[in-house]
Amino acid sequence: MDTVLIRGADVFDGSGGPPLRADVALSGDRIAAVGCDLPRTAEQTLDAGGLALAPGFIDIHSHTDLSVFARPLAESKLRQGVTTEVVGNCGIGAFPVGPGRAGLLTEYLRMHGAHLPPEGVSWTDFSGYAERVGRVGLGLNLAPLVPHGALRIAVMGAEDRAPAAADLARMEALLETALRQGAWGMSTGLIYPPGSYAATEEIVALGRVLARHGALYTSHIRGEGDTLLAALAEAVRVGTEGGARVQVSHLKALGRRNWGRGREALALLEAARRGGVDVAADQYPYEATSTALSALVPAWAHAGGVGALLERLAAPELRDRLSAEIARAVDARGGPDSVQIAHVGSPRNAGLSGRTLAQVAALWHAPPEAAVIRLLLEERAEVGAVYFSLSPEDVAAIMASDQVAVGSDGQGLSAAEDREQATHPRSYGTFPRVLGRYVREQHLLSLPLALYKMTGLPARRMGFTDRGLVHTGWIADLVLFDPAAIRDRADFQDPHQYGAGVEHVFLNGRAVVKDGQPTGEASGRVLRRLGP
Ligand SMILES: [Zn+2]
Repeated sequence: MDTVLIRGADVFDGSGGPPLRADVALSGDRIAAVGCDLPRTAEQTLDAGGLALAPGFIDIHSHTDLSVFARPLAESKLRQGVTTEVVGNCGIGAFPVGPGRAGLLTEYLRMHGAHLPPEGVSWTDFSGYAERVGRVGLGLNLAPLVPHGALRIAVMGAEDRAPAAADLARMEALLETALRQGAWGMSTGLIYPPGSYAATEEIVALGRVLARHGALYTSHIRGEGDTLLAALAEAVRVGTEGGARVQVSHLKALGRRNWGRGREALALLEAARRGGVDVAADQYPYEATSTALSALVPAWAHAGGVGALLERLAAPELRDRLSAEIARAVDARGGPDSVQIAHVGSPRNAGLSGRTLAQVAALWHAPPEAAVIRLLLEERAEVGAVYFSLSPEDVAAIMASDQVAVGSDGQGLSAAEDREQATHPRSYGTFPRVLGRYVREQHLLSLPLALYKMTGLPARRMGFTDRGLVHTGWIADLVLFDPAAIRDRADFQDPHQYGAGVEHVFLNGRAVVKDGQPTGEASGRVLRRLGP
């Protein structure tokens, strides 16, 4: 007898094709059968008439790696229908940890808004991290990438230099170890020091290791504004010269003077594909970005890590130079009215969360760049920000592409526990926003295509072999939603709001959302790649 029999849903199998009204039977953690009027019995039967059934959504660009220690159920993601999160993105993440480097890694992670478990970083490699995170009772699956920033810190600290031959060999060996342990690929964050200190040759060399394993290279590229096309070309080089499959993270055209270049970016990637490089991208469906406030500070000031950054921010002799460069960075992202303070590390400045940089500067009777410096100093760089820097036309052009997966770039949060801190609504609204606003209301893309971009496409990019499609024998990660009702509710004023329309979610065969509410079941797993 099956465990669950879902009757009469409109089944979108995740491949992009039209739906089929069918029954889906689950047995344990697998899909046992898919078909019309299945003559089967189950412990539990669910009448799904009027609902769409799809593979559980795969968030190919997530930062839930460490937030799960505080919010293991990752409700803001689960309630969107997400069942698997690809973590370790943007070069930021939990492993590997070199001897004596846990402190430096911890500061780096805190600067990027990470929550660490009470005992801090107690692991050294992928397996140690997987074992520790597996003990929290995961509300969804995690598929970790090796973050290049952590890899570099493990070997070279936060030094602003090229690796010596021995350094590079050590990084290659650590990457190799993580891939053998089951990591899914490697990410870079080429705007974030120390990862940004890497030249292309370093990334190409690491790309060769990925290529040997058939693992994915994902990149927050070196520039998303004025240097967008050159940065895309650099990512493509890791494919042409390193042989790796390439995934461009959160594709966008940043800053008003680059608006309209989304199509050029798509054309560059299309040309690379025609040239034989396996390259694709992902995107979140918003016109604002979000990252650390310290991303406004030039790379040279980050050399040596957070402690050295704070010393430079406080040094009178560097003040003019830093102010000028920070002012230019604020301008490139749209000016002080376009920058909103999000997460703040301490209670001291918690009241600034949600205000714009222009408002903070007015409050402090200081120029915006001076307010950035003061806030970073007072919070030891632990400040997040939202930047209203993208155009609706570029967001739409990129979203319409069948080569661009949906990825939130957000963390798994809890509306009840996290509402004190402003955040980007993408952590709550990404997937229902695409299905409600862009599919149902704007008809920008079809429902089967949108679901493919959330399931079959990211599964293929990652190399999943038993998730991301509704197929007999595959893992029962499934979402049931009402296509007429699904929508996001989180916005920039009130981001901690769950969307509507997601009725049921099954994770490894277990009901984790029932009638729109989480069941509290924690059936998530750390997924490991079985490589060559
Ligand atoms: Zn990023």
